[in-house]
Amino acid sequence: MLAGGVGAARYLNGALEAFDPRSVTGIVNVGDDLILNGLYISPDLDTCTYTLAGAIDPERGWGLVDESWRAMEGLGRYGGANWFSLGDRDLSTHLYRTARLAEGATLTQVTAEITRAWELDCSLLPITDDRVETRVTLADGRDVGFQEYFVGMAHSVEISGVSFVGSEQASMSKAAEQAIRDAEALVIAPSNPIVSIGPLLAVPTMRELVASRRDRNVAVSPIIGGAALKGPADRMLRELGEESTVVGVARRYRELAATLVIDETDRDLADAVEAEGMRALVMPTIMSQPGVGAALARACHQAATGEQTVGETSE
Ligand code: GDP
Ligand code: CA
Repeated sequence: MLAGGVGAARYLNGALEAFDPRSVTGIVNVGDDLILNGLYISPDLDTCTYTLAGAIDPERGWGLVDESWRAMEGLGRYGGANWFSLGDRDLSTHLYRTARLAEGATLTQVTAEITRAWELDCSLLPITDDRVETRVTLADGRDVGFQEYFVGMAHSVEISGVSFVGSEQASMSKAAEQAIRDAEALVIAPSNPIVSIGPLLAVPTMRELVASRRDRNVAVSPIIGGAALKGPADRMLRELGEESTVVGVARRYRELAATLVIDETDRDLADAVEAEGMRALVMPTIMSQPGVGAALARACHQAATGEQTVGETSE
């Protein structure tokens, strides 16, 4: 699975319920990564890890449950950067990761160590061990780091562009490349298409590799009824001149996947999706209810492998 943060983590959770966890691999975005107070932070990898470990804070949707914020308060005393909240428990992950990277470990190795420590049976692989940094150009011309836009400005400003600095020099990790080549089914998670899936596809040869196996790929729309469930995906699409509907998502993904899963809410747009060249699969995709994620994962696998005729799920 190609993964960002929250939407991807929810889907991955469903996949772990539906399949042998050892057969599930998430190829995760690192464009959101940042270095703050000397610590290397990988928000999407951590969101996936914490969610699958059952340790994510359910209210916030990020960070660990039962957090305290003493270190952040301490930083405030020094006037240190505390606009990006890191809980005391969460800090242990960033301390460990930063130390291991400084010792020469790759992000892929450190991630394996962290997921093992959380007793995950599936694999999480950063797309690359090189630094790829998502930057956002605001409508007023300013160029800011992704987290500055997303967290610092609470994504409440208009944007005019997005870039992935370093992507041209980056290379896909061997493990990620092999996982994509070997995958029976490849799913593009319901993640932000611009800033979660976008950075993955910006790594050289990634887009071609995914496109080369299009028939065995399925995408799940993060846009439902014209809106994102959470976050700025809908606004970003519009601000970049695209349609914030499942049809707009189909235009982004049609060269990469044969099937687009759209929510029941968007049933009326199934024909329009098919007119864009993707098969539309209509089913419940909001994974807040138990069982929806697992049913979605099963349906995606079937659509990708053709192992069973896929109809609409009956619930
Ligand atoms: P982030 O990195 O934490 O911002 O998360 P992602 O990029 O992975 O996911 C954000 C997107 O996931 C948003 O556009 C949401 O609409 C979408 N999303 C979150 N939960 C669900 C869900 O249960 N179903 C679907 N279809 N989309 C979801
Ligand atoms: Ca993210």
